[in-house]
Formats: sequence, structure tokens, C-alpha cells
Amino acid sequence: MNFENFKYLVVGSGFFGSVIAERIANDLNEKVLVIEKRNHIGGNCFSTIDDSTGIEYHKYGTHIFHTSNKKVWDYINRFTEFNGYVHQVLTTYKNKVYQMPINLETINAFYNINLKPFQVDEFIKNEIAKDRIKKPKNFEEKAISLIGKPLYEAFIKGYTIKHWQRDPKLLPESIFNRLPFRKNYNENYYFDRWQGIPLKGYSEIFKKMLNHKNICLKLNIDYFAIREQIPEPMLIIYSGPIDRYFDFKYGNLEWSTLEFCKEVIGVEDYQGTAVMNYADESIKYTRIHEPKHLHAERNYPNDKTLIIKEFSKSDDGHSPFYPINDEKNQKLVLKYRNEAAKLDNVIISGRLGDYKYYDMHHTIAIALDIYEKRVKKTRYNL
Ligand code: FAD
Repeated sequence: MNFENFKYLVVGSGFFGSVIAERIANDLNEKVLVIEKRNHIGGNCFSTIDDSTGIEYHKYGTHIFHTSNKKVWDYINRFTEFNGYVHQVLTTYKNKVYQMPINLETINAFYNINLKPFQVDEFIKNEIAKDRIKKPKNFEEKAISLIGKPLYEAFIKGYTIKHWQRDPKLLPESIFNRLPFRKNYNENYYFDRWQGIPLKGYSEIFKKMLNHKNICLKLNIDYFAIREQIPEPMLIIYSGPIDRYFDFKYGNLEWSTLEFCKEVIGVEDYQGTAVMNYADESIKYTRIHEPKHLHAERNYPNDKTLIIKEFSKSDDGHSPFYPINDEKNQKLVLKYRNEAAKLDNVIISGRLGDYKYYDMHHTIAIALDIYEKRVKKTRYNL
């Protein structure tokens, strides 16, 4: 590999690596080498067209862009327009469809009652009181202490077992904080000021970011295959897994992963929405995606549709999706972060480098911040 003329090496072309590379190329006006081990750019936000239907889909799961961060919104709008899609999620439980996250419609339909918003607190309080959990010690207890056992068992338990491949009693209670719960009929999944799907898909954003005279992009290159050849001084911005960077010397961080099965169905509309969750433990997939619904503005075929079934699995080390943030892994990642803090001229971040779940807008905000605070500063040391 030829490193001549490069003082900056970015490992990974997801949002973290692409934003940093774009800033170095445009703002610093310096040359930057981007290597990506996959055969495509965009990391897990990659979108592509299904050959048999012409429908664009997100290869690693449906991605909805949403943010209330003006800086991030202004930044991303330099590379794309959005189509105004507003995300809603439904869930199927025992062959009936309910709104998610749990809201007043979900509660009334599930219990077959007709509560008004001001009656919800009292109703849920009585449900919660039946189990008398004072100090929740795990995910299951936390969920029951917030919504009561019946709603937990219907909408959370089976889905959680499938998603995390673990008994909810073994998961930290902190995970449940992430699930919003509404006392009104608001069925919008996000509360952010801006949301939508990029009009021309996610991959076009990455093409625009990386198509620059100062950026040299090399696909199908694994950092660890060329690591020994990298000359100094060079600033390395690494967005791969942090444990891999340190050759797993303290052990492997655990992730869950997803498997996607595509099917073409000979109807115009299969499920009437982009994402349908499946709450029953007996149904092996966790969700069905129907990407046609993400682009109401497009002329997609009216005689067929694409659906994608999503299955959760433990990671075999090749496809990390969600960090298993239990105590054991949290302790382990601290050891790696301490090692990373000692490195000169290497920045490790992004969702894999930080071992954290980030939405896209978080990833972009972190990349912009790291660029300003750390990358720019190294300019005269290289
Ligand atoms: P990645 O996108 O994973 O990019 C890292 C890149 O580094 C990859 O391309 C990888 O191949 C490359 N790489 C790793 N190791 C090496 C190496 N050794 N050599 C070379 N290259 C390497 N966010 C939202 O805002 N909205 C959503 O609706 C949403 N849905 C999601 C659904 C799922 C199922 C998941 C898992 C995530 C979702 N996200 C969503 C989060 C979003 O995917 C992340 O915020 C984003 O991908 C993080 O970007 P990144 O650059 O940190 O990581």
C-alpha cells in the first residue's frame, strides 16, 4: 500500500470515519487515506437497490435519520435532502397489531378499556402495585416496576429474549430506560425536531462526502493486514472494534448481531408500514421491514414488494451490531479505553471504537467534535 503524501489515515467509512475524512479534506485541505474492509462505503448505514423489485433497502436494518441538534442537521443537509418520512412502529402480539412504543391506544386495545390520559397513571400504578417491586435489580424487574406485569409480558418480554438472546433477568435494568412510554395517543416514534430518509438514499451521502480530490478511498482493505506498513508520523483515526485494536489482550467484548432474510412478495403492500415488530417469543424473527414505505415519494412497482425478516443472534465475532452492555463488558471496555487514552496519534471512536450504541446523529456530532478538538490540533505535529 502506498502511503506517500498522506499524514491522515481513516479506518472505516461509516458516518464516523466519513465525517472526519470529509472535514480533513475540505476544512484542513489535507490529503487523507480512507480504508474500508467491506466492499462498500457507509458502514451500517449502507443502502442499496434490490435487483428484482427496484426497491431501495438498508442492508443492515432500517435507518431513520432523526435529530434535534442543529449543527448536525445543517451539516448533513449539505450532502442530502430528506423526504419528510415520519417513523411509526407497530407490534404484533398474539396475532393482533398494537402501536409502539406503548401509548394510550396500546393500553386501551390490550386491556379492552377506554382510559382517558388523566386516568392512565392511576391505572398503571395499580398494575405495578400487584408485584411490589421496590428496588428493581434487573431489566425484568425494572420493566414491571414501570408498566406492570401484563404489558411487560405481552410487549417486552418475548421481544427482549429474542433481541438480546438472554433472560431479561440477566440484563441490566438501565436498558429499559431507553423505551419511551406515552400516556396519550402520540404514535410518533421519535420526538426530534427533524427526521426523514435521505431522498436519494444513504449511500449517496457517503459518495458525496468521500468524493473529493484530497480523499483516497480503498475498499476491501483491513487495517490489520497493513498495520505494519504504516509509516510515522501519521494520525490514525480508527473506527473499528476497540478490543480488536489491542489484539483482544484483555478478552473479547460481546455483541449481539442480526441476520436479515429478504423475500419478494407478489402484492403491492404486505404490512402497511415500514417496520412491524413481533412480540411473541414463539415467532423467531423480531421484526419485518418493508422498505417500500420509507419512500412514499417514489414510483415503486404496484404488483410486488420487498420484505426483510430480522433475526437476532449472538455475534460470532464478525458482525457486531448491539453492544451487550452488562457489568462484565462495561468493566472490560474500561480497560481498553485506558489503553486507548495512552496512545499518541491514534484516535479510537465511533460505535465500534467506543463500544456504545449511537444513533447516526450522535455519531456525526461526536465525529465533528473530535475533528475540532483533536484532529485539528495534530496538524502541526505531523
Ligand atoms: P459503522 O457504520 O459500523 O462503520 C464502521 C466501519 O468501519 C464499517 O464500515 C466497518 O466495515 C469498518 N471497519 C471496521 N474494522 C475495520 C478494519 N479493521 N479495517 C477497515 N475497516 C474497518 N441510527 C439512527 O440514527 N437511526 C436508526 O434508525 C438506526 N437504526 C439502526 C438499526 C440497527 C439494526 C443498528 C445496529 C444501528 C442503527 N442505527 C440507527 C445506528 C447507526 O447504524 C450508527 O449510528 C452508525 O452506523 C455508526 O457509524 P460508525 O461509523 O460509528 O460505525
